[in-house]
Amino acid sequence: MLEIPHDIPHWLRRERKNQGEEERPYREFDVSLEHLEPSEKRAVGYLKDATKIVGEISDIQKDTPEFSYPADASDEELIAAFQNNDSLRSPYTRVIRKPDRSLSALPYHQHFKVQLADISRHVNRAADATTDPLLKRNLHLLSEALINDRYQEQELDWVGQRRPTTINAIIGPKESYNDEKFSIKGDYLAAVGILNEPLTDKVQELIDWMVRIQRQRKDPKITARVDDTLILAGAIKDFEWTACTYPNDPQDAKNYGSKITIFNTMHKDVVRRKIIPTIKAIFTEDSISEFSDQELSEASLVWLTLHEGSHPLASYPDETERLRSYYHTVNELQCSAMGLSVAYQLYERRVLTHKQLEMVLAIHLARIFVDYGEYELQEKRSLKPYALGSVINFDYWWNQAELKPKNGKLVLPDPEQIIGATETLTGYLDYHARASSFTDVKSFVNRHDNFRRLSFANPALKPIFPMDTRPLVV
Ligand SMILES: [Zn+2]
Repeated sequence: MLEIPHDIPHWLRRERKNQGEEERPYREFDVSLEHLEPSEKRAVGYLKDATKIVGEISDIQKDTPEFSYPADASDEELIAAFQNNDSLRSPYTRVIRKPDRSLSALPYHQHFKVQLADISRHVNRAADATTDPLLKRNLHLLSEALINDRYQEQELDWVGQRRPTTINAIIGPKESYNDEKFSIKGDYLAAVGILNEPLTDKVQELIDWMVRIQRQRKDPKITARVDDTLILAGAIKDFEWTACTYPNDPQDAKNYGSKITIFNTMHKDVVRRKIIPTIKAIFTEDSISEFSDQELSEASLVWLTLHEGSHPLASYPDETERLRSYYHTVNELQCSAMGLSVAYQLYERRVLTHKQLEMVLAIHLARIFVDYGEYELQEKRSLKPYALGSVINFDYWWNQAELKPKNGKLVLPDPEQIIGATETLTGYLDYHARASSFTDVKSFVNRHDNFRRLSFANPALKPIFPMDTRPLVV
């Protein structure tokens, strides 16, 4: 059962952490391991130990000023340097300035040598403990990759597993949200979970529909699994991510397929604490009166699946290089908008009911408020890529007059009314992802950010969006 806090959403409460309050570098969830063999329980124990140290590395990365690039290096200098030296552009190096002023690459496996040796040892013990040959092979590969920064073989082995393993471990410098210059440098993260078979079947069925609908775009293999995640660390903990999809490399995804992991325990928590209270706060009562909390929770899983399923379909080989610091903003918004378009097509094919489609739209709008509200009110500055995307999406719909306020709340629009505008937005974003330059995408983002004063600061919405607005882009 979901117990929903029936008061105002967390992002409006301006909660502040007490001074000196230490946050642990990982987060745990209660997940029963009773059905596992003793050998598999031991493997899980070792993977949990590994995850805790990953959390420590992630904290060092975040707490070290200019971790990825030297403070005095301009974008132009770095771009020129990348051209002559591949290791400077590697996701797995820090760029440092030598005494002779030249730039040099310091590999993660050297910088974090001590911690990575520990993590690798724990992963290796887990590999020795498990009796599942697929998991065993992958964990052995992972334990090697962690100490030499060569992850491709391990990642592709994981993506290509011919069945979902009971235990799933995602560990490594796999994301780049903290690289505010170029969206390249890897952030360490970890998640360990146990397969949830009934939900995995449900989600895979949706993904198969999605691939069929989008076949004209590309034809990638996409598999999905839902895990009851028992521990997570790094970016997944910080951003409270509810899913991830790998590989990030578009060429690898095209050649070898992609694999989605949904963190069911985290997702349930985010729905309970963030999504449902936000839906109740931003929409007029009569537009959401027919949605039960349980139905909203299920619809949120649909939204999430369609967003994640869009990642392999919406990435282009040189996108990061062109869009640089705007890459994540464009990419995440594109996947959300595309997911919503697919939801509409699934409704037309009677895979989703009209009510489910409405709930998916309500969840999409709630996520806009959550991401932007946490960025602005909770001052979670690392959420900037999501906050910017939220602003673009909101302004877009607002200016198309698809959103209507009533008594200081929003009326949930009819999905039919909003689908045209969503498809246009998806088209713009797809253009930027496919072909735009850094200058073009910057002016696209800026154009919508200026409109933001008209929308989020609109007096009609003040009751649900009370903050003073500042430009996001400077
Ligand atoms: Zn995403």
